[in-house]
Order: sequence, then C-alpha cells, then structure tokens
Amino acid sequence: MNALLPESIPEALDMLARDPAAVPMAGGTDLLVHWPVRIEAHDRTYLDLSRLEDLKPLTWKADELVLGALTTYWDVIRDERVDREFPLLVQAARQVGAIQIQARGTWAGNVVNASPAADGVPALMAYDATVVLESRRGREEVPLDRFYSGYKEMRRRADQLVVAIRIPRRTYSFQIFEKVGSRRAQAIAKVGLAVTHSDAGWRVVAASVAPTIRRCLAVERLLETGARAGVSSSEDLSPAIAQDVAPIDDIRSSARYRNRAMARVLYHDLKDFWGPLLERRPRADPLP
Ligand SMILES: Cc1cc2nc3c(=O)[nH]c(=O)nc-3n(C[C@H](O)[C@H](O)[C@H](O)COP(=O)(O)OP(=O)(O)OC[C@H]3O[C@@H](n4cnc5c(N)ncnc54)[C@H](O)[C@@H]3O)c2cc1C
Repeated sequence: MNALLPESIPEALDMLARDPAAVPMAGGTDLLVHWPVRIEAHDRTYLDLSRLEDLKPLTWKADELVLGALTTYWDVIRDERVDREFPLLVQAARQVGAIQIQARGTWAGNVVNASPAADGVPALMAYDATVVLESRRGREEVPLDRFYSGYKEMRRRADQLVVAIRIPRRTYSFQIFEKVGSRRAQAIAKVGLAVTHSDAGWRVVAASVAPTIRRCLAVERLLETGARAGVSSSEDLSPAIAQDVAPIDDIRSSARYRNRAMARVLYHDLKDFWGPLLERRPRADPLP
C-alpha cells in the first residue's frame, strides 16, 4: 500500500492532480472493510486526509451549516445545535453502524461511497445539501440531489476532493428519518426515508429502493396537494411511489416488501402530522 500524507489542502490537491488514481481516504470505514478480500486494493495509492485540520470543523454560519469533509457522525451527534435545527442528521448518525464507526466515519465518505443504502445521504438530501468539490482546476458546487448519475456513479472527477457539505438553514414544519432494517443497530437499511417540509416545499428522499439515493418527485408533488388529492391510506401513496422508485429483490428484502414498507411508513408519519391539522381545518382545505 502506498500512502500520500498531505499536510494542507493545496498539497492534497497537488498530489491528486499528479496522481488522479490515488484514492482519498477519510475515516477508512468503507475503504478498509473489504481489505482482507480485495487484494487488488493493496497496490493502490491512498491519499490520507487525516492531517488536514481545515477539513475537520463543523461551522455554523448565519444562513447555513457547513460540514467539513472530515466531519464525523460523532461531531454531529455531540453538537446540540444540530439536534435542534437538523434533527435528521443526528437521527441518521445515531443509526450508522456502532459508536466506533460513528466516531471515524465521515459524511463526505458516506456521500462519495455512494451506497444506495447509505444513512447519511438521505438526511443531507432532505435538507437540500450541496457538495463542495475542489481541484487544482477550481471549485465546484453540486446539489446533492443532482450528484449521482447511476449506481456508484457521481459528478466527481478523479482529481477532485470533497472539501465541504453545505446545508441551508431553514425553518421546518415536518422532519422525519426512518430506517427499516432487521434491527435498530448495525443493520443495512431495507428501506430508508428522510422527509422534510419547509417554505421550500416537501422533500421526500428514499434509500435502498433504487440504484441511487434519490428524491421522490412524484410523491413530493402529491404531498403538495395532499388533502385535496385525498390521501387516506398508504395505498393512495403507492402509485406515486411506484413512479419514483425501482426496488430490487436482494438478500435483504424483496421489491414488493420495499414498496409497501415505504408507503406504510410514509403514510403513518404523515398521518401523525396531518391528523391534528385535519381536526382544526375543514377537510377540503389544502394542507402544508
Ligand atoms: C461495521 C460497519 C458498519 C457500517 N454501518 C453503516 C450504516 O449503518 N449506515 C451507513 O450509511 N454506512 C455504514 N457503514 C459505512 C461507512 O461507515 C460510512 O459510509 C462512512 O460514512 C464512510 O466514511 P469514511 O470517512 O470512513 O469513508 P472512507 O472509507 O474513508 O471513504 C469512502 C469513500 O469516499 C471517498 N472519500 C472519502 N472522503 C473523500 C473526500 N473528502 N473527497 C473525495 N472522496 C472521498 C473514498 O475514496 C471512498 O471511495 C458501515 C461501515 C462499517 C465498517
């Protein structure tokens, strides 16, 4: 194994420009998990980011929260302001692996690893996060919901490092994160769901039901007109869900189960939200 050990971001970008085949390494929790069986990975060059102090902090600005590329799940869990303003980030972080993984694993690593079953990505996407990329050729910002183009394919060139993830600060009236798995901890999601509602509208993000984590635009449109469209059971959500997701049968679950689980989980969370509003409003009123 060859390791490059940059001391600064410019030095790291130089190294990556010279050797775009070098693999950036943050917490290493994804990269090293298959190490014993992926012998071919042993000969690669790794760009160890661990000395880049500038990538570590989580920064609050007037209008956004910025996660550095080395911000870990644990950094987010222990910041009480994150729990107040972006509770889905904390809920997702608490369900990633166990405490050891939460302490090492980074949000940027979760984004670039691009697993369709990732837990961090749906929460970030439901908050309209933007991925900030840098290379010797300049800086680029890509909205996370446009970052993935296919299974493990993304808008990141080999010479680019993720340097930050920007999350706009908004007032939310609805926020849920759901992970349907075999158990509460140390499980890969069979279905993941992150949903928010703010002045910017509904965001419904699904995991483990398509080759990439994605926003469910048909469901979002349905929710914009929720009460008028007469959503009175989980089945009423199913046609829109079917437009948005394409689950597969695999070792963890069947496509049919995933579709139904997503509809039911979403419906029950919405019912809790809409229920009290329905009691206060005439039923024909539009709901948020
Ligand atoms: C036991 C175990 C349990 C796990 N449980 C979960 C779980 O419940 N939910 C979940 O979502 N994940 C889980 N994971 C996966 C993993 O922990 C997360 O995806 C984590 O966020 C990866 O972050 P990392 O810093 O360790 O990434 P790394 O392993 O260092 O890197 C992952 C990928 O991102 C790239 N990369 C990292 N940083 C950058 C950067 N700044 N710029 C460009 N590319 C970069 C690397 O080259 C690599 O391709 C688990 C892993 C293990 C080993």
